[in-house]
Amino acid sequence: MTLTADPQEPASFVVDVDPVCGCQLLPEVAAVAPRVEWEGATFVFCSETCRARFLVEPERYLDTDDDG
Ligand SMILES: [Zn+2]
Repeated sequence: MTLTADPQEPASFVVDVDPVCGCQLLPEVAAVAPRVEWEGATFVFCSETCRARFLVEPERYLDTDDDG
């Protein structure tokens, strides 16, 4: 009898997403990427351009359902 088990589980790691352009940032990229702390949350951006756009209108990129 042979039991076949997966010795390796898929590594689950968090990928940060740029809220402005929506691109995914790998952990090694996010570690050195521009970031902003806003309302107790930390947002990471792929570039200073996206970071600047966020700071102009942060609420536009926040996940709110209060759009009415
Ligand atoms: Zn971006």
